[in-house]
This record gives sequence, structure tokens and C-alpha cells, in this order.
Amino acid sequence: MTSARPHTPADGVVVGGHAQCVRHPNASPLTYRGTNTWLLAAPGASWAVVVDPGPDDPSCLERIEAALTARGMGVSAVLLTHDHADHAGCAVAAAARFDAPVRGLRAGTLAAGPLVVDGTDLVLEVLELAGHSSDSVGFYVPDGDLIVTGDVLFAQSPTMVCWPDGRMGDYLASLDRLAHFVSERGVRHLCTAHGAVIDDPRGRIDAARAHRARRLNQVVAAVRSGIPADAPALVEAIYNDVAPDLHDAAVRSVNAQLRYAYDEGLLQEHRSTR
Ligand SMILES: [Zn+2]
Repeated sequence: MTSARPHTPADGVVVGGHAQCVRHPNASPLTYRGTNTWLLAAPGASWAVVVDPGPDDPSCLERIEAALTARGMGVSAVLLTHDHADHAGCAVAAAARFDAPVRGLRAGTLAAGPLVVDGTDLVLEVLELAGHSSDSVGFYVPDGDLIVTGDVLFAQSPTMVCWPDGRMGDYLASLDRLAHFVSERGVRHLCTAHGAVIDDPRGRIDAARAHRARRLNQVVAAVRSGIPADAPALVEAIYNDVAPDLHDAAVRSVNAQLRYAYDEGLLQEHRSTR
């Protein structure tokens, strides 16, 4: 068993004493049970950091505010694991409502390494985890033995590599970096953006690596067997175990795999992928 509670939404849980989940009801095939916002704060602190405030829906701010009010906390910053709409859609509105700056990698307001947030003494570190998107990061909270990992890994399913912004080579390198970091620092929890918390980080990272290797082998074998090097055709041939409403996501991931296979010399490129 790789995850203690793979299908339990994280709503309301407090992880490592430092991360509280507020789940939004934007459930869909791609967002699973909805987006998890994470409130990061030391026990008893007056100020929190809000990670991924959620989609463009005013009710997200109501939910976050209720959780903050219950603990008597203000907001010192709104941080983004990446800028996809289900995470960052209400970021500007959240910044205005809570009178705090928004910080994300794509906007150039975050960088890898120790993160100082004015108004809080919470110790934070930014990890670059490109792959799902080029701007994906994790937020390490050493006092909670946890990393808020956005869409890098899920307990319940593989993530999507959002080609062309997301790249398979970047994703595999990020998994390696994350595995090394988790082992070195003794990280015990990955707070994901959809679904449950991952309580066995190394097991889940290894499972993601194995999954990517299996899919890559399938893509390479299919093209070598004569199936056109065309993502929709390959999805039809390979992803027969994936629900039809996830086929568009699978097309993106297969395009990412094809590009990776060409770059690594596993396949000869006869046409360009988009
Ligand atoms: Zn995303």
C-alpha cells in the first residue's frame, strides 16, 4: 500500500501542525474533488501564508477567510505553486481582500531557495519542480516536515505534463530532485493541490517514476510497431485504461512523451509535434 488514505479529501486537515487545508468545490475530471488551498502558519501564529487561493470564484475567498478568522490570523502573502486557473484564478482578488502580495515563479516574484515573507517568521524554502508546468514550485516547511507540492504528484492518480509549457524531461528531473530532497531532509508529508495528503513521499515519487517509464515504453513501442507518431492515435492505442473525459489531458502527456523520446534518441523524428 503506497498511500495511507488515497481517496480521502484533505479538507480541514492540519498537517505537521503547520499546514491547514481549505478545499474548494470545483470538482472535475482534472481537479478531482476540487482545489486544495493550504494555509501555512506556526501553531498560535497571528499571520498565515495562503498557498494557491483557488479558482476565480468569490466563494473561495469566503472559505479561506472563515478558516483564517477561526484562528484569528491575517495574511502575510499569497503564494502560487504555479499559475493555472484552478490555483491562481482568484489570486488578485485574494491579494486585495487580504491586503497581501501575490508571489509566483512566472511573475518573477519567487526564486528557488530560502523564502523570506514580510510579517511572518515562518521558515520557508522554494523548490523548483518544473514539469507539470514550467513554473511549478514546492514550498518546504521544515518545522512541519512537509512540502506543499501543487500539481507535481497526487495520491490518487498520475499528474498531467501540460505540453508544451510542461516538459517530460523537466518533470523527471524534478522527481529526482524531490526524491533527493525528501530523503535528505526527512520530509514526511506532501500537501497536494487535489485529493489527499501523501504520507509516504518516497513511495509515491517512485510510483510516479515507474508510471512515466511504463508510459514512455508504451509510446516508443507503439510508434516502432507502426502506429503513427501522433498523440491522438497513440492515446487511442495506449490509454484504453483512462476515462474518455481525460483523453485531452492524455494527448498533452503523450505529446510530452514523444518530444522526450525524440530528444533522448529513442525515436527518429519524421514530423514535428505541437
Ligand atoms: Zn496545474
